[in-house]
Amino acid sequence: MTINNLNCFTASFNADFRFEEIQSKIRNLEEKMKMPKSVQLELAAFNESPSANLTYNAVKIPTWFLFKYEDIPLRFRITDLDDPRLTDQNYLSCLAEWMNEKFREAGISSVIHTADYVKLQTVIKFMRDQNLYEKSKDFTLGHELSHLNHAQLGQWSLSHMKESISLAGIIGGILLLFLALSIIPFVHLAVTLTVGGTAVTMAILGMLAYLKTMISSQSVIEEEKSADIKSAEVLQDAVGGIYLFETYRHQNLTIRHRDPTRHIDENGNNLRDKNHPPLTERIAYLKAWQSQNTRA
Ligand SMILES: [Zn+2]
Repeated sequence: MTINNLNCFTASFNADFRFEEIQSKIRNLEEKMKMPKSVQLELAAFNESPSANLTYNAVKIPTWFLFKYEDIPLRFRITDLDDPRLTDQNYLSCLAEWMNEKFREAGISSVIHTADYVKLQTVIKFMRDQNLYEKSKDFTLGHELSHLNHAQLGQWSLSHMKESISLAGIIGGILLLFLALSIIPFVHLAVTLTVGGTAVTMAILGMLAYLKTMISSQSVIEEEKSADIKSAEVLQDAVGGIYLFETYRHQNLTIRHRDPTRHIDENGNNLRDKNHPPLTERIAYLKAWQSQNTRA
């Protein structure tokens, strides 16, 4: 491999400028989506996933989102998913060092640690194609904005809190039932019946609430799917999303190959992720959208 030292000097990176570019992309998308309120843009840590913060009406992007393809020196770029450097610790640590230096220069406190190298692998895989890398970031912005738009319109609320409250109800009920049984020899029957009755009521109410949450967790997945489709509609292009999920799938398969005990199936779906449709499904409906809505 030849190293083109010249590129160390020709590649330039201006974090503020990149941040503003993303901000103006967001303004553009907001306008197309006719959103009632303008959203904030916030930087998250390198290894965090992009997300929508409903409470603060903000899109959070990890620091690597600021890098455009042309910001990355040629010596670090990969164009092939099977590039052997992807698993080379030396390559990854040089790349991390370079990125950390750019963050430091920009006054960004986020640092890439050795534990983040799997994420770094994913990021450099995203960057393999200049055009599609930008499209995948646009798709992500459209997806997160769609969540915020739904929240602004009152069409979406988080169900996680309800879930923990209902679980507490079930557990509390069961504990109380044990208490009722254990006090039988010591107290009046009426007391046991009262405690037992309360326990059963609590457990049943908790169970009902939990079932309701199960149904709404289905709607969390539906919400994710609708954010994917909405993003494709706004951009009039699903290619960025397809590329994004294909890359995640490839990375998941790399992880599975290295450590088969991980919760990744043979198609590269992350079985631990209960809040999104499986990657293969997301790719399938975006491909269907693409073929129905654009002329190939
Ligand atoms: Zn989402």
